[in-house]
Amino acid sequence: MGSTALLEKKPHAVCIPAPAQGHINPMLKLAKLLHQKGFHITFVNTEFNHRRLLKSSGPDALKGLPDFQFKAIPDGLPPSEVDATPDIPTLCESFDRTCLGPFRELLAELNDTSSSEVPPVSCIVSDGAMTFTLAAAQELGIPEVLLWTSSASSYLPYFQFDKFIEKGIMPLKDASYLTNGYLDTVLDWIPGLEGIRLKDLPSFFRTTNPDDFMLKFVMQETQRSRKASAIIINTFQQLEHDVLDELSSYLPPIYTIGPLHLLENPVYGKSLTDFRSNLWKEQPECLEWLDSKDPNSVVYVNFGSIAVMTPEQLVEFAWGLANSKQNFLWILRPDLVSGSSAILPSEFLEETKERSMFAGWCPQEKVLTHPSVGGFLTHSGWNSTIESISYGVPMICWPFFADQQTNCWLCCTKWGIGMEMDNNVKRDEVESLVSELMAGEKGKEMKKKAMDWKKLAEVAVTDANLNLENLIHQVLLNPSIRD
Ligand code: UDP
Repeated sequence: MGSTALLEKKPHAVCIPAPAQGHINPMLKLAKLLHQKGFHITFVNTEFNHRRLLKSSGPDALKGLPDFQFKAIPDGLPPSEVDATPDIPTLCESFDRTCLGPFRELLAELNDTSSSEVPPVSCIVSDGAMTFTLAAAQELGIPEVLLWTSSASSYLPYFQFDKFIEKGIMPLKDASYLTNGYLDTVLDWIPGLEGIRLKDLPSFFRTTNPDDFMLKFVMQETQRSRKASAIIINTFQQLEHDVLDELSSYLPPIYTIGPLHLLENPVYGKSLTDFRSNLWKEQPECLEWLDSKDPNSVVYVNFGSIAVMTPEQLVEFAWGLANSKQNFLWILRPDLVSGSSAILPSEFLEETKERSMFAGWCPQEKVLTHPSVGGFLTHSGWNSTIESISYGVPMICWPFFADQQTNCWLCCTKWGIGMEMDNNVKRDEVESLVSELMAGEKGKEMKKKAMDWKKLAEVAVTDANLNLENLIHQVLLNPSIRD
């Protein structure tokens, strides 16, 4: 075939995200950028997500191109027809235990010149929580780069865990330590994270059990990441320079390539723009509704793809929003409320019908760039956080789990663009924080700071592009990196 000779010249990156929305999105952005730089791309989802992506984002989303193909491997879990994020510990345990075999087979298939028309795999770009892939890269003698999809600040504490044990801080002595005020203890000895409270550390630290699965899993992943050829973090220097300095003493070379979504080139060919990664079906009508509202007059409420709340918490949020008298766009993912579908009180719906809009999933980046959006009530997932920073939108932070606690602390304490909401959410606090965010003095100050961060994020794109070029030449195209 005429195209084969052309394809053979290309380097071939196999990109494998962890099987969750907040990991697939940044990996797809990175894969598109590498494609633009001349790489042949194989993008590997789990079969479960592959099916969901086809259903929610349409067949074009995964159609691919001759030099950008989508493949799927099993996640090891029993088949499920439910369009919801699986239980995270169960999912992590399963892919960590079962995915290396199918991944190796996929690599062998791609490298089989008798049946494959693609160039041989020359590097692996894997999620930082999928480090089982390092064994495959080592077997093939090719470089592997890990993409850490959260903040650098949420990476660092794992490398300090021994000190927590030495100092007798972790694991927590018993369950009373979760509620007796102990978590408010301020730490001053983690370089770059001075002043952080125990409760702001990644939530996996909050355990009384040294054998807790998630703690052990993330410790394993972060320790194994030392064996990667390089680490990519979706952040930028100005945002986390002190932590990045410290982190570099524990890790292989770090390349900050963020905010990733700002690097995406809008002049992609149409096919590449069609590759989408929504696991839920987007409802773009939110944007039309936003068009009908005044500038900076809408609070955008979205808790990402994994956070769940109780029916009681849902009702507290609802009445807090109603009582704030602000306009709001509220994304109620079908699996947002534990144990039931999201049932909102009819009086609340009646009272807010002139100033509310609900959807199951939305084009978040377009929402955050919409001039009507004045603030974001968020669960502080890292993608949501860095997207909000890039678009100059101040936040109310209601962190749920994992890195979100740390991201919340960064927004509220270090960057001045967030206000924290208590986990035990009450309507009065929702009302007062939303009112402050949208109309108060603190809200104005936060907006100003958010606009300053937006400018810095835009400037950081130049460095991020340079870092991407360096990563390509120093690592991904460097055959001696494994010597
Ligand atoms: N997202 C979206 N529409 C929604 C909700 C989320 O497009 O209605 C995207 C959002 O822009 C972000 C990702 O999904 O890129 C969520 O990642 P994040 O790290 O914020 O949170 P997670 O879902 O991992 O908890």
